[in-house]
Amino acid sequence: MAGCLLCGGGKVDEVLDLGKTAPANNFLKPEEAAAGGETLYPLRLSLCRACGHAQLLDLVPPSAMFDHYLYMSSASSTLTDHLHGLAAKIVRSLDLGASALVVDVGCNDGTLLEGFGKARIERRQGVDPAANLAETARAKGAEVTTGYFDLALARQLRDTHGPASVLTMTNTFPHIPDLSGLMQAIDVMLDEDGVFVLEAHYLMDLLDLCAFDTIYHEHVSYWALTPMQALFAAHGFEVFDVERLPIHHGQLRVWAGRKGRRPVAPAVAALAALEEERGLTTKAPFETLVARIEDIRSNLLDLIAEMKRKGGRVVGYGAPAKGNTMIAFFGLGPDDLDYIADRNTLKQGRVTPGSHIPIVAPERILEDRPDLVIVFAWNFAEEIARQFSDYLGSGGRMVVPIPALQDLEAVS
Ligand SMILES: [Zn+2]
Repeated sequence: MAGCLLCGGGKVDEVLDLGKTAPANNFLKPEEAAAGGETLYPLRLSLCRACGHAQLLDLVPPSAMFDHYLYMSSASSTLTDHLHGLAAKIVRSLDLGASALVVDVGCNDGTLLEGFGKARIERRQGVDPAANLAETARAKGAEVTTGYFDLALARQLRDTHGPASVLTMTNTFPHIPDLSGLMQAIDVMLDEDGVFVLEAHYLMDLLDLCAFDTIYHEHVSYWALTPMQALFAAHGFEVFDVERLPIHHGQLRVWAGRKGRRPVAPAVAALAALEEERGLTTKAPFETLVARIEDIRSNLLDLIAEMKRKGGRVVGYGAPAKGNTMIAFFGLGPDDLDYIADRNTLKQGRVTPGSHIPIVAPERILEDRPDLVIVFAWNFAEEIARQFSDYLGSGGRMVVPIPALQDLEAVS
């Protein structure tokens, strides 16, 4: 067993075993699924005894996950607004001039960089391994380097463009297995007063909401603030501000710079104290998580079995990557769910990784009127209830499995 991703030395203990799953974003064409040969990897969460950092026990090669990517930031208008708002806030609060260089690592389709453009930042550099998304990002006016952000790439970018005023990572920070290498690359990339802004799903929210479906191979780390502070300190950086955000199922936004360059906001110590009080770097909250997952599993499987006994038809709504953690761990397949409807046209016509459930357009639910719809995109439950108000108002039934199994009410 390898040591801790963060501190290197610590022994890690397994706290949750979700079985073997396929990489959660590898939605297959039907012919690829039929050909077989899909690789499944163990999905186990562990905790470091020394630093308390929550992390996967088994790592999947990044090229098996990120070289062709079907998740697009701009697919959700909520997310587009969020990222444009973040760019505006960074420019305003750091008082960036037009000539400042901003680097977005894991720039996806360029939505955040587009936001910096709107905030009149001219020099915008993106980095992303997904070649299929880089073209979209370039079309929005950013320079994009296809590849992984490491020390060599940071040196190359700095030689070409000079140091950056800001480096951002939204949602990609939990993807990085080589944390020490990343911090060295950030150190090279940023100027003396440079600021690193990251957003990541937050472990406290994951535990509170029982959002265990956030756990999949792309996310090698499950961040709390306290272990992150230790990582930054080891590389001469410190967190100077922190915010909790409602987007997705609860995110942490962290502002960091070189130690001593900026005043540290009271929010930082306050959140660290709350983590201490909640025992976030100890095993106790994970034991509660395991029990809650078991409850959801037995309630959902009982409900599906009852529907099937009555001859009812069951389908899914929303095929986010995270849905595949639940589908795989609960052992669901095409015999349980006829299909899953999703708005992402890149996913329609494909099947879910591992479980091979067909993905169709949302209109299909309105045509078919199935007896039960399981909502995997549970974090958009309200938006979905509004979208399907006619179906729900005329006897249709939708259930949301997380944070606990419950019926979705019609919203007019
Ligand atoms: Zn550790």
